[in-house]
Amino acid sequence: MEREHLIKPVLDHYYPTIEYGKGVFLYDDQGKAYLDASSGAVTVSIGHGAQEIIDAMLEQANKVSFVYRSQFTSEPAEKLAKKLSDLAPGHDYWAFFVNSGSEATETAMKVAIQHWQEKGRLGKNRVISRRMSYHGITMGALSMSGHVLRRRRFIPLLEDFPVVVPPYCYRCPLNKTYPECKLACADDLDTAIKRIGAEHIAAFIAEPIIGAAGGAVVPPEGYYKKIKEICERHEILFIADEVMTGIARTGAMFGMEHFDVEPDLMALGKGMSAGYTPMAAALVKDHVMEPILQGSKSIMSGHTYSANPQSAAVSLAVLDYIDKHQLVLAAEEKGSYLLARLRQMAEQIEMIGDVRGIGLLLAMEFVSDRSNKLTFPPGLGVTSRVIERAFQKGLLVYPAAGGVDGAGDAIIVAPPLTITEEEIDLLVSMLEETVREVMQEVT
Ligand code: PLP
Repeated sequence: MEREHLIKPVLDHYYPTIEYGKGVFLYDDQGKAYLDASSGAVTVSIGHGAQEIIDAMLEQANKVSFVYRSQFTSEPAEKLAKKLSDLAPGHDYWAFFVNSGSEATETAMKVAIQHWQEKGRLGKNRVISRRMSYHGITMGALSMSGHVLRRRRFIPLLEDFPVVVPPYCYRCPLNKTYPECKLACADDLDTAIKRIGAEHIAAFIAEPIIGAAGGAVVPPEGYYKKIKEICERHEILFIADEVMTGIARTGAMFGMEHFDVEPDLMALGKGMSAGYTPMAAALVKDHVMEPILQGSKSIMSGHTYSANPQSAAVSLAVLDYIDKHQLVLAAEEKGSYLLARLRQMAEQIEMIGDVRGIGLLLAMEFVSDRSNKLTFPPGLGVTSRVIERAFQKGLLVYPAAGGVDGAGDAIIVAPPLTITEEEIDLLVSMLEETVREVMQEVT
């Protein structure tokens, strides 16, 4: 064996080489096809190989691919910032472009802290998040994340930011039931703020629908309205991490639209460029920018590739593609169809404890006993077995940390929004076969 040089996620694992992708399929160099029911990492929302995006990429590359943001601006970056503001809930946002979701949440955190600094409130520099959350892998983003596995190695280096309970009704952390609970999980934020003191807190960050740390966990009706009211009452900014939910994935342009709440800041990534180039953004409402505009007039952050015209042109083309092919509506319609099919599957297969999600951000959580929601022993690696077996069959699904503090098993099913009903039927039959086989193995 020749020695390797590329660091892959698991160093002794074999990764097939993909030659090309078209629509919802990827093809490896052995000619094997993979139905991409995870859109990669919930990213390739318009499918692979869309000619319009490739054309836009070439067109921009023929003009200029890179300009340094400290020297120049560019038409694609200016246009994209305006377009995102026009699309976002409540409008009136500024955009700070970065290259990954982690940078987007970290930038949002820094802007929130700077907002209070410029108002002379220097102590407001902590961010509250939820125990069940993932906001990124860089140190600031990880400090705001509850994802147990991804944090573990770096705990001594992370900021000790406070966390509150998640709105995880399937296994309510407070042992309550909606609506009798009166949204006690949202009240936990109020309690935490009172305990710590609002004078120390810059922001609260939450994924509209919890992704990798829980598996498409949708909060109950009224949750975000209450959260926003608590944030406003205590003068704390609300950051919506829309990295996974943003840009049409859930059947709305932004996940927060389902809850009719306008965040003060948003983080975007993944679907923003649908995987065609690295691109992400922190969106900042006018009122958050105001003290900075009146004060230092500069946000203390930035990356070499921030706002590069090449990625901005791709993002604009992706937004056009979504509009032209009505993919917001498609996510809603195809999502309802897939959700119904997955729920039918769950009726037949005892190991599926819960099926949930909105639009085409769906998930199933696995249990060893449905009546008492007992999780499988972690050593059994049920999630990995499902992912691996599906992969062998040529079906890609995404792992999620189900259960309390990641001690359960879940997968996310989030195909490109361009998927057809026939392709959904194929997806469901492959997944059903996979889950049945794993159930035989582990029960
Ligand atoms: N925020 C959320 C909600 C995510 O799902 C992710 C990635 O999975 C991130 C942030 C981090 O994004 P990236 O992997 O692009 O750094």
